[in-house]
Amino acid sequence: MNCSCKYSLGIRRTQMVVGQRKFLLAVWFGLLVLLAGVARAQDLAPGRESESRLRAGAAAVDITPTEFPLNMPGGFRANMAERAHDPFFARALVLDDGVTTLAMAVVDSLGVAPEVLEEAKQSASQQTGIATDRMLICSTHTHSGPPSNATDGPAPAVAYRKVLIQGLAEAIVQAHGALQPASVGAASHPLPDEVFNRRWYLKPGKMPLNPFGKLDQVKMNPPRSPGVLDRPAGPTDPDITIISVQDARRRPLALFANYSLHYVGAVPRGQLSADYFGEFARLMPTRLRGGGNFVAMMSNGTSGDINNIPFTVTRPPREPFEQIRIVARKAADTAWFAHRKIEAHRADVPLGMLQREVFLKYRRPDAEDLAAARKVLAVEDADAVAQLPRLAQNYARQTVRAAERQEDGLTVKLQALRIGDLAVCGIPFETFVQIGLELKDSSPFSQTMVIGLANGRYGYLPTPEQHRLGGYETWLGTNRVQEDASVILVDHLTEMLHELHGQSPAE
Ligand SMILES: [Zn+2]
Repeated sequence: MNCSCKYSLGIRRTQMVVGQRKFLLAVWFGLLVLLAGVARAQDLAPGRESESRLRAGAAAVDITPTEFPLNMPGGFRANMAERAHDPFFARALVLDDGVTTLAMAVVDSLGVAPEVLEEAKQSASQQTGIATDRMLICSTHTHSGPPSNATDGPAPAVAYRKVLIQGLAEAIVQAHGALQPASVGAASHPLPDEVFNRRWYLKPGKMPLNPFGKLDQVKMNPPRSPGVLDRPAGPTDPDITIISVQDARRRPLALFANYSLHYVGAVPRGQLSADYFGEFARLMPTRLRGGGNFVAMMSNGTSGDINNIPFTVTRPPREPFEQIRIVARKAADTAWFAHRKIEAHRADVPLGMLQREVFLKYRRPDAEDLAAARKVLAVEDADAVAQLPRLAQNYARQTVRAAERQEDGLTVKLQALRIGDLAVCGIPFETFVQIGLELKDSSPFSQTMVIGLANGRYGYLPTPEQHRLGGYETWLGTNRVQEDASVILVDHLTEMLHELHGQSPAE
């Protein structure tokens, strides 16, 4: 009996403990339901219906060339690289607000051709489901980068085209795969001392003949002598604008920066370098105390007429790569100052993205210019060629080519993105700084970032006013599209920004 009594007592005790647990669980469950209800009620409160919960992911894929020699494009003659001084990367940031998913990628390159980018986007789209018109891919515009679009010729160059496509697609795929709850903020801070307008009015009698045998009103990269220089022909944009992304525990996840500086350069012959863009990305984790998964990237702004040459002051001599490191350090410091200005990273930011395809007519030489070009090309005697203006035969060939082009023009992709109160514009040209300043000025958003070399590279984009002044970037051959192209593109982008902002330009 005792035994059974003990037994039954034991049963009762167990039942009592189970009963208490059930009660406590019920209380907990009730509390949770209550809390969830409160949270839901807040979500559905007036003005909060459209709140999104942002997710973000970032990735960097090493695309450093391993096969050499490689010709570094961008100059008037071959410039062979035998090795890479520092690594090259494809870096990507993917954002998702539950409705829109978009990707922003930066690639260390002089300027990847649109058809190569299209292949990378297609591949990334198949693997992630992100639409190709929700992808912005821009080149940093390092002038010591490998070729990007060789389909025949030397094997290393052809092989690298594939590395580039796979690396870019992989960066977007990895960033998409790393999506996690996140918040974003945007800000800008000036770094005026590393940007200089490179087009100058010169003192009377100092302007040399251009390749067409005519006198321009301004000269690109003139001699740095007070006896020659008069005044710069345009402004600069000193701002470094940043998009900062944090994870759910407020740890830095990614930083996407933008500065209107063409590049730094002074890279020794025979070496590839990602220029200050690469060094900035390397330094930034230290500035923000980012962990192993943190990815920083620096995109090119509107820098078609901006470089790092201090025309009116003498800079002490630098060892190779020293100036690149100096600019990268100052840019990283400036990005850090911008980061400190962000009052709060937010998860409730709506995303939006628009893409338009815009047709631009090719520039054509007039009959007189074409006849002059043919005459220059007919000069064969070496002494007579030496008497021609610098690069005369080179530009004469380009003039004839422009006259003989079959197509009327080309179609370029323009993009505008919205990340909460920040807007981003993508323009596929080496865009003059005035254009970026105008867009920032007319944008209805509190912050606007304007990215050049986005989704392709079609040469320089001067304003009509700068076309009238002449100079290297406006010469037929360097410049390919109609002289009012910038007006057309700015009109489109302004419309797109207002559309994203939900108001018409007239308001
Ligand atoms: Zn350039």
